[in-house]
Amino acid sequence: MDNASSCALCEKRIEYANDSREHIIPHSIGGRRKIRSFICIDCNSRSGDSWDAEIWQQFSHLAMMHGVDRERGTPPNIKIQTIDGENYLLLPDGSMTISNATYRAEPGEKGIKINITARDKPTAHKMVKQAAKKNPKVNVDSFLSAMTVTETPLESPVTFSAQFGGELAGRSMVKTTVALAAAAGVSAQSCDAAMQYLKNDTVTPPYAFFYLRDLIANRPSTHAFNCVSVVGIPSKRQLLGYVEYFSMSRIVVILSEQYDGPTVNTTYAFNPANGTGLDLSVDLNLSDDELELIRINQAVTDETYTAALDEGFGIIYKRNQSRYLERETSNAFEHACESMGIPKEGIIPTERAQEFSILVADYLGSKLANMIRR
Ligand SMILES: [Zn+2]
Repeated sequence: MDNASSCALCEKRIEYANDSREHIIPHSIGGRRKIRSFICIDCNSRSGDSWDAEIWQQFSHLAMMHGVDRERGTPPNIKIQTIDGENYLLLPDGSMTISNATYRAEPGEKGIKINITARDKPTAHKMVKQAAKKNPKVNVDSFLSAMTVTETPLESPVTFSAQFGGELAGRSMVKTTVALAAAAGVSAQSCDAAMQYLKNDTVTPPYAFFYLRDLIANRPSTHAFNCVSVVGIPSKRQLLGYVEYFSMSRIVVILSEQYDGPTVNTTYAFNPANGTGLDLSVDLNLSDDELELIRINQAVTDETYTAALDEGFGIIYKRNQSRYLERETSNAFEHACESMGIPKEGIIPTERAQEFSILVADYLGSKLANMIRR
């Protein structure tokens, strides 16, 4: 284990004390695979706090909408707005809730009528107890038993800016390709074009957004993925990388154009919703024309870019719909049991099965109407 290696970024000698476990794809967006003896602890935290932090800035909304699952910790809720200016909170599982609880007290027929809207049951409980302190007449138990939980589809679209790339996020993605190359046994020195960019503020980015064609032959259609791929073709002197995040942001990195190492073809891809590894086949055998367009950062057309975004948002939409259905189906069963006076986990007597299914169908029917309206 005495491989004398030096940090890819600062070239300091890496020893046991300053070695780091660098995530090949940032941990914030669900990356799990790590590499040792790649960069030192200082460079790990410096690049994490700037380059990788910008990745979270740019991808946090998409990550949450896909229900990103991190190896450690849960991402914080994010404030979002609809185009009509209404505020919501986006939760780590991809669902949304009202951002502020409301408390309204107004005179009613028999005293004061209190109306509480909260984002979840525990918050509502807390608010009812506070109300009870101020108004001794409030009966906490009857208040809580009258509490209803509603879920409504958003009336207007949510806005967030989807701008990928730039100085910092660009460096994070390029670092990701160099890290995967290193994990495959290709030294950082062999990634000369990428390393010049990572070590120097004024170097032209060695990457370009790529939407000329789909480079993933077996693109999953039911869930998003994050992926990095590196291909080394010594006969063409090419060492190329590909990074795609949340099925939307797609870049090709020219790691080197004077590559003379071994043939390499390696990919790390996973489903961000559960971290499960994926076996994606990435085609980085690019034509000369495609490479030239990458060099001048023109490897994108409005049409193909829009199609990629549509596809990405389509996955989010489908995911939300199936979650909504799942939840409402369970609500429908609960509702039917309650109406028939049967405990939640109880058994439905055969002679009442029809009554039960009609109740479930009626409930679901009204919820499905919500979905069709959209
Ligand atoms: Zn270093």
